[in-house]
Amino acid sequence: PPPGTPDIEIARAVQPQSILLLAQQRFGLPADSLIPFGHYKAKLNMSHFQLKDPSSYGKLVLVTAITPTPAGEGKTTTSVGLNDGFNQLGLKSSVCLREPSLGPCFGMKGGAAGGGRAQVIPMEDINLHFNGDFHAITAAHNLLASILDNHIHWGSESGLDPRYVTWRRVMDLNDRALRNTIVGLGGAANGLPRETGFDITVASELMAILCMAENINDLKQRLGRIVVGRRRDHSPVTVSDLSAEGAMSILLKDALQPNLVQSLEHNPVFIHGGPFANIAHGCNSVMATRSALSLNDVVVTEAGFGADLGAEKFIDIKCRHSGLRPDAAVLVCTVRALKMQGGVPKSRLATPDLVALREGAVNLERHIRNLRQFGLTPVVSINRFPTDSEDEIAEIQAICHEYDVQAVPAEHWALGGAGATELAQAVLDQMALGKPDVQLLYPDDASLTDKIETIATRLYDAERVDYSPEAKQQLEEYEQLGFGHLPVCIAKTQYSFSANPKLRGAPSGHALPVREARLSAGAGFVVVICGDIMTMPGLPRHPAALDMGLSPEGDVYGLV
Ligand code: ADP
Ligand code: MG
Repeated sequence: PPPGTPDIEIARAVQPQSILLLAQQRFGLPADSLIPFGHYKAKLNMSHFQLKDPSSYGKLVLVTAITPTPAGEGKTTTSVGLNDGFNQLGLKSSVCLREPSLGPCFGMKGGAAGGGRAQVIPMEDINLHFNGDFHAITAAHNLLASILDNHIHWGSESGLDPRYVTWRRVMDLNDRALRNTIVGLGGAANGLPRETGFDITVASELMAILCMAENINDLKQRLGRIVVGRRRDHSPVTVSDLSAEGAMSILLKDALQPNLVQSLEHNPVFIHGGPFANIAHGCNSVMATRSALSLNDVVVTEAGFGADLGAEKFIDIKCRHSGLRPDAAVLVCTVRALKMQGGVPKSRLATPDLVALREGAVNLERHIRNLRQFGLTPVVSINRFPTDSEDEIAEIQAICHEYDVQAVPAEHWALGGAGATELAQAVLDQMALGKPDVQLLYPDDASLTDKIETIATRLYDAERVDYSPEAKQQLEEYEQLGFGHLPVCIAKTQYSFSANPKLRGAPSGHALPVREARLSAGAGFVVVICGDIMTMPGLPRHPAALDMGLSPEGDVYGLV
């Protein structure tokens, strides 16, 4: 395609293969192992699908990144391209991704099905309410909210104190006007007035539960364990106290099955679950990862945003709970992001600037150091943009040489899998050195505050953690209620190691401000909200939505 061709046009120029045929040819899966959603999308029918024993799983490659620019650094693009690269080398490989949210699609960041020649198709279907999963999660989440308000309306038999309801409502859009709301206005017939609000669906505890669940039984148990609020005596009220888990589980029955689609090069792609990595745990579902590992020699998976968020939560939450362990890590790095970390404003990122690049390399160095703390030596993938200069690429390679890690320029965005075979080979070489001894950052039995402080000091180089009185009280309460063994899920800006998006590079000596803590007893973690991060994003002044539309032929345009 000529330079400047929009992703959606590149995607639409490729005719997808029948997904049933692809699953049969690649994996020998019979048609009844799949539930087709049209010709090119399907769900795995988990009741017909036998997961292998973990000892015969394929190798798991984690794709993470340095601190990103607002446009994204190409983790999804690299994950898709790397998988196409593995397939070009003759390996049986799949990639596991998260489902895109409508929030960023219509906001600023755009879609999340890759870019250029490294995309997943049909891209518009994947980006726009893919197979209905997020709608199901939204409906199940809000069903619980309605059961809960109804329970209060009829006298709160469980003893739930309406002033201490923690369950909010969700919607899969960026809508700042819904952050804080009052429900139940208009008199006694309309329920009890109380203050609440909306989060974006990707931050819902149900999204995390869908991603952590091992099977239907586990799903139901996790739903039952959700804490929705407390009684006057501070004891927690759970979903099973309200008998809501059955109805919630039936709304989630299809959403729970992993989705199978294909890349532009017709390689299998699993896309399932979509928690954001800044305000949630940032990984695709355990069931999709296990399915892919059962069917392949190699599985590539993306964890969101920079390695401070995505990789940390991948290991400390997803790996801790599931027992999965990565065999290798790829750290995506771009010239643009390094220059941004070196202080260059967004408008000048396309101009060569070796000085700023070298200054920004402290960010890359910190991410490499952090991955080493998890026992992983990353392969740095330099995701090449058309605006990068040869000198800049060579400079990153020289810097990585100093840090003693492999650095490979990758051109999958321009060339597809052929542009990532060198990267794929480098990852194979890294794995040939032996299985890494992956370490969790903290033990289960550390206190919640110790866990937060360990992440803050060891990964973010913070000097201390400052708790708001509210957060301090919440964390103490969760300890007293017996939830102190859970891992923590840090919610903070993706633009800095600190909670201040403006602190670039590799800041040290800062304080991590903890504003609030939220218990996700069903998902199995405590969300720790730091700085100004919002669990319901807003739209920018000129949202991407304003430039989108539908052609008379029924084709989507403007989706990026
Ligand atoms: P991430 O997953 O890290 O957030 P994505 O893979 O979604 O990032 O990429 C973000 C955007 O950048 C996409 O629109 C994609 O098309 C674009 N992009 C990624 N890699 C390149 C590249 N090498 N050259 C030009 N654009 C790219
Ligand atoms: Mg991505």
